[in-house]
Amino acid sequence: MQTAELKAEGVRWNLGDLYSGPEDPRIESDFSEARRRAEEFARIHRGKLAGFDGATLSRVLAEYEALSELLYRPSFYASLLFAEDTQNAKAQQLVQRTREVATDTGNQLIFFSLELIALDDSQVAALMASPEMAEYEHYLGVLRRFKPHTLSEKEEQILNQKNLTGRSAFEQLYDELSGSMRFKVVVEGEEKELTDSEVMALLRHPDRELRERSFSSFLEKHGEHAMVLTAVFNNVFLDHKVDCELRKYSDVVLPTHLSNDIEPKTVEAMMQAVERHYSVAQEYFRLKARLLGVEKLRNTDIFAPIAAATEKIPFSEARALVLTAFGNFSARFAEIAEEFFTKRWIDAEVRAGKRSGAFCASLSPNYHPYVLCSYTGNGRDVSTIAHELGHGIHYSLSRVQKWVNHDAPLVLAETASVFAEITLTRHLLAKTNSREVRRGLLCDLLDDIYGTVYRQTALTRFEMAGHQKRKSGQLSADDMCELWLQEQGKLFGDSVEMIPAYRWGWSYISHFIHSRFYCYSYSFGELLTLALYQRYLDEGESFVPGYIRLLEGGGSKRPDQALSELGIDINHPEFWDRGFRVIEGFLTDLKATL
Ligand SMILES: [Zn+2]
Repeated sequence: MQTAELKAEGVRWNLGDLYSGPEDPRIESDFSEARRRAEEFARIHRGKLAGFDGATLSRVLAEYEALSELLYRPSFYASLLFAEDTQNAKAQQLVQRTREVATDTGNQLIFFSLELIALDDSQVAALMASPEMAEYEHYLGVLRRFKPHTLSEKEEQILNQKNLTGRSAFEQLYDELSGSMRFKVVVEGEEKELTDSEVMALLRHPDRELRERSFSSFLEKHGEHAMVLTAVFNNVFLDHKVDCELRKYSDVVLPTHLSNDIEPKTVEAMMQAVERHYSVAQEYFRLKARLLGVEKLRNTDIFAPIAAATEKIPFSEARALVLTAFGNFSARFAEIAEEFFTKRWIDAEVRAGKRSGAFCASLSPNYHPYVLCSYTGNGRDVSTIAHELGHGIHYSLSRVQKWVNHDAPLVLAETASVFAEITLTRHLLAKTNSREVRRGLLCDLLDDIYGTVYRQTALTRFEMAGHQKRKSGQLSADDMCELWLQEQGKLFGDSVEMIPAYRWGWSYISHFIHSRFYCYSYSFGELLTLALYQRYLDEGESFVPGYIRLLEGGGSKRPDQALSELGIDINHPEFWDRGFRVIEGFLTDLKATL
């Protein structure tokens, strides 16, 4: 087979819908037009918002949306240009230039959201009574959510300034220390110094001893820095405690729930459902031990491959597989996905200098989204295409929304992408008679489900326990390790043996430092999608129109409200249990391959 075909050679996107190139004069004219309009916007509207009626405010909001699109179009283009070739000096310059201009001009517009936040509740109620404001209700609510927890301007300024030498300084120390670490590992008889991403990649290596050796070296190196790492964690935890007290949050997780637009009880219902089903993960680990031919799984075996790499899949076949799988679910899905190929909205070829990984990005409802990935012909690459095209379908459907409602909220952001991946896997399972192929597909899927649903819940429990404990005093490195092993132990039960160095497992999770309690949104998004998928299995075709409406809604509603329109109550434990029926189904399928 031609390697050109395998590697998706020539499958490049066409960014011509945005600009003709980095030197397109329209970029500079957009900048000056945006600046002119921003200045005018500020001159006319600053200090006036409190006097607006609903019809006027909705007109001004529409003006603000159009201006934002104009202002961010060059930045969006620059980021895509940079992603397709990170070594392109013109793209680098343009990224820098667009960042400066967007910040500069964007500053002119800050007054607008501040004045919207400052409105009192009765003013907002009067504004919302006007029908023109209906589509902005959620946006206004989102903007004003933090109002009760916002301090005076002066206090906010002081906190910001002191953060530079406080929390931010510890975050930076953490990043610099982690980034400087190298890990000595003997690979094929030769001692090497590996980076963290190289160690992480080795967790998927077929050699068991190598997996354990490299991960131990990684963890022990963190252990050598225990003093600094423990101090960073202690300070970040304490800083957050103080912040919550100043801002009158009754609980340390509340700011995260508020930004996710989710009730605390909903998250708790989800996490408890995951914990009730730790036994399902443990059953998978026992099964995986059998597949790997080991007596008991170690935590370094969880992502081990169970079979030799299978045959390569040419890009054209990947495209056909994804489109057929989508078409089986909904003709509309297949149609939208096909546009990415026919209209060149996807960049899939492998090129030097291209940004690694994959993403789907969208500027505004007036533009179609773009997908980037690097296709090497592996089964995982086909899943990645399905995943990113799922995002692409979501963005395409939510183009019916206004600019402020175009993006789905975080906990719904992976709904279409994960759904698309499961749809693909089910299609591939139905197509093959080979036990080995089925086994490989199911293990890939269950490994992912472990990593998102289960692991992230256990991580969140550790983080909650750490913050809780910090309230009554400093934690020692041993305290941290103990809390970590406790929470991981609950997840693994007796199905997985943790290697001794795993006690340092908490210290490398940068989310704990940079995005507090973020981890639960991974569990939430994935389990939500699994539960939706189970509904599809139960209801068949009749599920599809409601699901499409959910995606069309973008970010126009609270997640619980959007889902209640599908007849789903995410506060009900029974809903979350549905997600585990899909997982148990995959587990049964896996057992059948033995
Ligand atoms: Zn995604």
